[in-house]
Amino acid sequence: MGRVYNFSAGPAVLPEEVLKEAAAEMLDYNGTGMSVMEMSHRSKAYQEIIDTAEADLRELMNIPDNYKVLFLQGGASQQFAMIPMNLMKNKKADYIITGQWAKKAYQEAKLYGDARAIASSEDKTYSYIPDCSDLDIDEDADYVYICENNTIYGTKYKTLPNTKGKTLVADVSSCFLSEPVDVTKYGVIYGGVQKNIGPAGVVIVIIREDLITEDVLPGTPTMLRYKIHADNGSMYNTPPAYGIYICGKVFKWLKKMGGLEAMKEHNEKKAKILYDFLDQSKLFKGTVEPKDRSLMNVPFVTGSEELDAKFVKEAKAAGFENLKGHRTVGGMRASIYNAMPIEGVEALVQFMKKFEEENQ
Ligand SMILES: *Cc1c(COP(=O)(O)O)cnc(C)c1O
Repeated sequence: MGRVYNFSAGPAVLPEEVLKEAAAEMLDYNGTGMSVMEMSHRSKAYQEIIDTAEADLRELMNIPDNYKVLFLQGGASQQFAMIPMNLMKNKKADYIITGQWAKKAYQEAKLYGDARAIASSEDKTYSYIPDCSDLDIDEDADYVYICENNTIYGTKYKTLPNTKGKTLVADVSSCFLSEPVDVTKYGVIYGGVQKNIGPAGVVIVIIREDLITEDVLPGTPTMLRYKIHADNGSMYNTPPAYGIYICGKVFKWLKKMGGLEAMKEHNEKKAKILYDFLDQSKLFKGTVEPKDRSLMNVPFVTGSEELDAKFVKEAKAAGFENLKGHRTVGGMRASIYNAMPIEGVEALVQFMKKFEEENQ
């Protein structure tokens, strides 16, 4: 069997070119006679891999010098604790709840201090982004927290919240490198890489230097202190070495593709094909308020659970994998990350048209 069109929300599709390159280097990386998997992270060859990855990411995102880039482990979920442990100096933080990941982060932060939910879209199953232009932000809040792209529900902030001068912390796991960002608007940008960048096991944290201090909550484990990782170039202990190497290859691929401006154009074009179809379909419906639609995750339903199940089954047989919606919301979801080719989306829409004709 050849490669399928993989619409998984994560771990997700990676550029074929990157996978082939990694395969070619599997037994002998760059004349070292070993795989990157077998290499000491203290070696010159590995130092060059991680340094190049960081430099390329800085270039792609135009990351200012007063931000550190950390390659950590524990997934995005570990940041749910690490953020309050390191940033809650006043033990206060304000959270905007736009889905399950934001809610989990909020619940975790409550273990460490006074986390408040200052806005939520739970009333309509997280199908929109609340108005964040004038929120009741605590004067003593250490930060305001958002999940910028909601992987499960398919919403994305088109404008960032007005934090009234407070530090913005954003989980960008499922929109990482999908379009340009102004890093200076954030105190912390972080994401697990398995959605849009690389293999699960790496989380990237981009953090403004003044937020990295020794002054963390009592009992914060050494491994959960940003300062330890920043002071040691993400090598306080053994980093997720092979995963970082693949991320580095994806950064090179993105540069070759024209960088984040070009990716944005590419992603808008892909998403438009699918949304345009959904908007005129008599069978399929998008579930998200149009103004808040994500470019990366596109949930949709037929309105009938049986038809949804039939669609997912027939799509799979036709080579469209992982279209089933998240277990908590049902329906379907097509994740169309950077590495999903436009042909994949076109083929999916053709398949949906055919299914619609056959099931009217
Ligand atoms: C997948 C995802 C997470 C959880 O990531 P893990 O690496 O499994 O902890 C958190 N936030 C968002 C937005 C996600 O898409």
